[in-house]
Amino acid sequence: MGEKVDSIVDHPMFKPHIASVAMTYELAQDPKYYDLMTAESHLTGERINRFTHIHQSTQEIMTKVRMLRLMGQKTGTCFQRCVGFDALNTLYAVTYDMDEKLGTDYHQRFKKYLRRVQGEDLMVAGAMTDTKGDRGRRPHKQDDPDLYLHVVEKRDEGIIVKGAKNHITGAVNSHEIIALPTRAMAEEDKDYAVTFATPVDAEGITLVLGRQTNDTRRLDGEIDPGNTRYAILGGEALIIYDDVFVPRERIFMCGEHAFTGPLVQIFSSHHRVNYGGCKVGVADVVIGATKRIAEVNGVDGAYHIRDKLSEMVHLAETCWACSLTCAHEGLRTPSGACVVDPLLANVVKLNVTRFAYEWMRLAQDIAGGAIITLPSERDYNHPIIGKYMEKYYSTKKDIPTETRIRLFRLIENMAVGAGLPEALHGAGSPATLKIMIERSIDIEEKKALAETIAGIREDKHFQNIWGMDEGEYFKEFRENRRITK
Ligand code: SF4
Ligand code: FE
Repeated sequence: MGEKVDSIVDHPMFKPHIASVAMTYELAQDPKYYDLMTAESHLTGERINRFTHIHQSTQEIMTKVRMLRLMGQKTGTCFQRCVGFDALNTLYAVTYDMDEKLGTDYHQRFKKYLRRVQGEDLMVAGAMTDTKGDRGRRPHKQDDPDLYLHVVEKRDEGIIVKGAKNHITGAVNSHEIIALPTRAMAEEDKDYAVTFATPVDAEGITLVLGRQTNDTRRLDGEIDPGNTRYAILGGEALIIYDDVFVPRERIFMCGEHAFTGPLVQIFSSHHRVNYGGCKVGVADVVIGATKRIAEVNGVDGAYHIRDKLSEMVHLAETCWACSLTCAHEGLRTPSGACVVDPLLANVVKLNVTRFAYEWMRLAQDIAGGAIITLPSERDYNHPIIGKYMEKYYSTKKDIPTETRIRLFRLIENMAVGAGLPEALHGAGSPATLKIMIERSIDIEEKKALAETIAGIREDKHFQNIWGMDEGEYFKEFRENRRITK
């Protein structure tokens, strides 16, 4: 908002974002959550924060999804640390493949970097989305070459990069930022095929915090923000790289454009599966708030209210089930790191783009219009007006009016705020998800199934959609592609 901020920890606009991330550290210290929040590093054998861990089995990806739901329940918002977590897991797999195929030394470099991240328990922001300019043109065809982040100079000791990354969750309060290409790059775009890590305050980096619905309410008091401790979203920022120098040991891809496609696919799959964890944790909070406001309003016994609450639970648990299955059906990459099932990852996220709107619509429906018409906290604290509010917003003797006001504000925060467009666009917008779903399936095999059943095709053998007979498929499932639990 036009102000240069020197110390984010002392600034009220940043405190709720920092508090959300702090929960990822706080719960990791709690013995109750030891198994969920921490893991054993495969590099050092040390116990580390799970947000810095490389998934060693599909079971561990399921544990990650469980951890994200817990985090959503504890904060009621985005806790930001997953993007960097997914970037670490993606780079572990992709740098290994690059070294195998090209003889580079990216994987060793990356492992050294990862050791530090794990050892110091650093928060890493993942910076993927470029500003993109004209969406109809590839990076090198843009009028302004900086509309995608790119290498402007190569030196023996490192590279100079220029451009920007947009909507970057948690960037302002991270320790490190990993920049990744936003799309698959062709040969002509190879200067844009660049991946590297910088400290958040590297010379030449400027961060501009985004505005979000009702964000300045946190300057007004405690009740009006709705979520009393944490921010509405993840403190998304525009990161400007103005001729930033990146030393060699922090570069994990530079020009290897053929690996940008797999990188984007692995990263986006990892990130998409998260939404059936974090958003479902947030849904748990909103379902609780909705049930409570129904009780406070005296309508909780009505059949249609109970039916709507069950519907909210059904929608949330559907996303949850899909995420767990997506993790369960994951694969082990040659690096040893496990990844999720790419088709199901897109299905999870597509469900969240729709179902989150529906469960929030039901929360709005049950809570009533006061979530958008309630007078302010200042009026409630006013010596004259406050008494009227106390009287006219009361429902029953045993329920303090303030309880009702706080519930309205919490539901407003969650069901009307910026969380919904985030559920739509974060980790990939619906059209992208549908394209990935189309690419992930073998429609010809499905046609063959139908033709066999309809008697058009004379194929008597059982064929499944993977195009193998049952025996072969399960053999591959056990021995090569999937992890035995
Ligand atoms: Fe993590 Fe969810 Fe926030 Fe993405 S939206 S960073 S997955 S909490
Ligand atoms: Fe997000």
